[in-house]
Amino acid sequence: MPELAELDRTMGTYRRAGPLMARGSGAWMEDESGTKYLDWISGIGANSLGHGHAGLAAALHDQALTLGHTSNLYRHGPGEELSRRLVERTGMDSVFFSNSGSEANETALKLARKLQGMRGAPERQSFVALNGGFHGRTFGSLSVTAKEAYRAPFGSMLDVTFVDPGDTAALTKALHGKPAALILEPIQGEGGLRELCAGFLRAASELCEDTGTILIHDEVQCGGGRTGTFLCASAHGVTPDVVTLAKPIGAGLPIGATLARGEAARALVPGDHGSTFGGGPFAARAALTVLDELDAGLQDHVISLGAAFESALDELVQKHDACLCRRGKGLMQGLVIPGQSAAVVDQLMDLGVLACTAAGDVVRFLPPYVLTHDDLAIGLERLDTALSSISVSAS
Ligand code: PMP
Repeated sequence: MPELAELDRTMGTYRRAGPLMARGSGAWMEDESGTKYLDWISGIGANSLGHGHAGLAAALHDQALTLGHTSNLYRHGPGEELSRRLVERTGMDSVFFSNSGSEANETALKLARKLQGMRGAPERQSFVALNGGFHGRTFGSLSVTAKEAYRAPFGSMLDVTFVDPGDTAALTKALHGKPAALILEPIQGEGGLRELCAGFLRAASELCEDTGTILIHDEVQCGGGRTGTFLCASAHGVTPDVVTLAKPIGAGLPIGATLARGEAARALVPGDHGSTFGGGPFAARAALTVLDELDAGLQDHVISLGAAFESALDELVQKHDACLCRRGKGLMQGLVIPGQSAAVVDQLMDLGVLACTAAGDVVRFLPPYVLTHDDLAIGLERLDTALSSISVSAS
């Protein structure tokens, strides 16, 4: 057998799991040897429609035969329709399309500085972000990402003040320092499935309003219907100036969306920003398919599946001493298992369930929206087995 390193010449940035994934159907993936895995991570929250989705395949096939990539030099139907439908659905006024969550946030940070300049405050260049937050790997989005280890190898970053989630006093102080924007995830994903308190989200919104700070919600992981509503902060009655989406809205095709309202919606003008691929016909068709499916009953399914998932995980927390608690909402769930989260993820893989860790101690589940209740039951049984085996080995 050749070594993995001989077969794979991609840069060594990922610690990938061993099996070579070959095909998939619904919430299941299969490796080249025919072993099946229940995909409870869905490409880190991106593959909302699962694998082999007939509606998505038909839409992309049709698009391939109709019109290919155009760039943003020209108008095209799918992009315009998607812009209208996203704006309508979120209550925002305009959208910029890119290709990833990082780029969607990069756009938001640039937009905030541009808008502060237009308001006559070009000195407002810095940013405020939250400890535990993750916003991406490009320089701007990395600058506002809290984890020091991600930033340390890459030298100078933007000027960012980090504040603990829930610390309204520290946030007040930081926002009175006149930053360009505050960026936060209403539910922190990489930071361990931490839902910010509704009161803190509302306080942040009011403080931004009072201090003229642009409020950016990063809903790249928690938005797009995953937690039961299209934007998860809308459940708390908070409307940010800018909201970013990516992952599940493309069903696996790369797309990022930076939505803005009011004067923020008009801040970027020709020449300010751009993307060759952003919002191209294929990604837009994929996203339109996701919206169609959500409207045709998938959002209701996410809500009912999410409720079942939550209560089943709560039962597992009661049963297994190794689990401290459950965190998250809807189909964005985590179990806090100090010191053993990686072992549980490995054990789950051996049992044929894909999950990953977050923030060290959390086992994270981001299943595809199309997961069936039967497949949920299969995964839960295997999770119970995995948790039993670590409880035994820990005692
Ligand atoms: N924001 C959040 C909240 C994320 O979870 C991620 C990815 N995990 C990103 C931004 C970056 O997205 P991408 O990897 O698509 O650039």
